[in-house]
Amino acid sequence: MLKIENVTVKSEDKVILENFHLEIQPGEIHALMGQNGAGKSTIAKVLLRDSHYDVQGMISFHNKDLLAMNTTDVAREGMFLVMQNPIEIAGVSNAELLRTALNDRGKNTGNILEFHRELTEYCKRLELPTSFVHRDVNFNMSGGEKKKNELLHLWMLKPNFLILDEIDSGLDVDSLKLVARSLVEYYEAYHPSILVITHQKTLLDILKPQFVHVLKDKHIIKSGDFSLAEQIFQDGFGASTMRNGETNE
Ligand code: ADP
Ligand code: MG
Repeated sequence: MLKIENVTVKSEDKVILENFHLEIQPGEIHALMGQNGAGKSTIAKVLLRDSHYDVQGMISFHNKDLLAMNTTDVAREGMFLVMQNPIEIAGVSNAELLRTALNDRGKNTGNILEFHRELTEYCKRLELPTSFVHRDVNFNMSGGEKKKNELLHLWMLKPNFLILDEIDSGLDVDSLKLVARSLVEYYEAYHPSILVITHQKTLLDILKPQFVHVLKDKHIIKSGDFSLAEQIFQDGFGASTMRNGETNE
């Protein structure tokens, strides 16, 4: 479903990623880990076609050339990014944005009562006040509310590929658990692919990615199963990410 082959990413002549490979099949959960500044958010933004980056190599999504698409095309194909710092859109309410997006995807929201009933129901499940239906997208919301608001969009739009970039940042312990459980519920209902970027053990313990990758020196230097994440939480990135035969000396 997503195939990234030999990708190099530059911004203003600075090489951020080089020789980057990653393949994610339908229904797989992958975790991407790595130290601050390793390039994790960059790959997320590249996939959503952020125009700040110069990208070389091959990326296909649903067997289509992702690098030939713009952000709208990628979103229509079902990719959904929860950003580390979700942007605020003053003057556009959740209801307006979601109706427009659903109509654009050919989903009929002609029955306004039904649309509002669904949106209100998801607010309740996310423990958000139902007034959020008419709040401007992320505008003046706290860090935690923004993340839950993004999940409100997730449930309404039902994307098939999620990228969660430090969705845990800004969340207190209870909100983090609620968000993680909501994600598991979504996964069980729709079986999307998920690329989760995080440093948080709680989130990974609940999401249980089948694949874990470590990003270092501009590319993925090590991949493994969930035990690699456990090893990193125990020993840090140093010891856990040495290639075979390498020593600490
Ligand atoms: P991470 O999410 O792993 O902490 P980022 O992907 O945000 O790391 O950043 C990786 C590196 O690329 C950093 O050194 C950052 O300063 C740089 N970088 C990211 N985006 C840009 C950009 N648009 N222009 C210039 N440098 C960038
Ligand atoms: Mg980041």
